[in-house]
Amino acid sequence: MLVALNETEKIVNLLELASPDLANLAGQFLRCPACKSQVRLKNGRVKIPHFAHVSLATCQHYSENESLQHLTLKKRLYHWFKQTESVQIEQFLPALQQTPDLLVNETIAIEIQCSALSIQRLKERTETYRVHGYTVLWLMGKDLWLGQHLTTLKRQLLYFSQNAGFYDWELDLAREKLRLKYLCHEDLTGRLHYLKREFPFDEGNLLQVLRTPFAPTSATLTPQLSQDIPNFIARQLYYQSPKWLKIQEKYYQNGQNVMTIKDFPIKLYPIGLNILTHQFEGVIKPDFCQITADIDVYYHHFLAYPQHDRVYPPGFYAQVVKD
Ligand SMILES: [Zn+2]
Repeated sequence: MLVALNETEKIVNLLELASPDLANLAGQFLRCPACKSQVRLKNGRVKIPHFAHVSLATCQHYSENESLQHLTLKKRLYHWFKQTESVQIEQFLPALQQTPDLLVNETIAIEIQCSALSIQRLKERTETYRVHGYTVLWLMGKDLWLGQHLTTLKRQLLYFSQNAGFYDWELDLAREKLRLKYLCHEDLTGRLHYLKREFPFDEGNLLQVLRTPFAPTSATLTPQLSQDIPNFIARQLYYQSPKWLKIQEKYYQNGQNVMTIKDFPIKLYPIGLNILTHQFEGVIKPDFCQITADIDVYYHHFLAYPQHDRVYPPGFYAQVVKD
């Protein structure tokens, strides 16, 4: 943690202190802004200066043992936001019993997520922000960057807009860049395809940068597929992949066989769309905890569009497909 209460109940923010002030803190009685128990300044060689609870009893509102990556990213984004916005670091919100890493303009909670957390906890925290009128933006540290395949957790950290489709935000501390991965699609092998844009730290207005997914774009994505799909499916069934056995079962129930499909006209499809089984069971509305938009409308428009040699932002399909 980077903030503490001093003896006069004022918040001490380590990111606003010069080194001589740090020395002065040593003799002071400092407390956690949330649980009010004593904290101590840690000013070691490895991490940047931070506070830690003296008692080992865990405080639910401030995380101990934050990694160097997490502390440093918090610091970098705090200074970047501060160029143009009002920003609080680790402000404990009593009504929510939550402490966002950064709170921008009193309403936007920024969470820098550097390690895995349970989906239940993610959903609870997201929902709590939402019901109290906050927007929450989760920005991913290295361990949570999108790789070749989506995990259940990463899927719950995806956002959606008409102009960027499914997207996520990633923080690259080593290269000092904020990265947007957008127009995320999957192919039939489950491999992810997306476009990316990078924004160097401290360049431009960060809040504007974070609005990029809402700006009109003419971006499109062309499938780059390496796998032979019919072969891939045959192998999945041979090795009894639960996902593919379920799909095959749906085909059997409808007097068909997924193995006999020779041509798959849709190479890339939106995340969460039951592309191979929607004709039997309808489009199933998936679960994305960061997304409140009506995704199934997008799926219907996508499926109704006759050409799939490349994919477009959702807004494109909404415009060209007549309901
Ligand atoms: Zn505490």
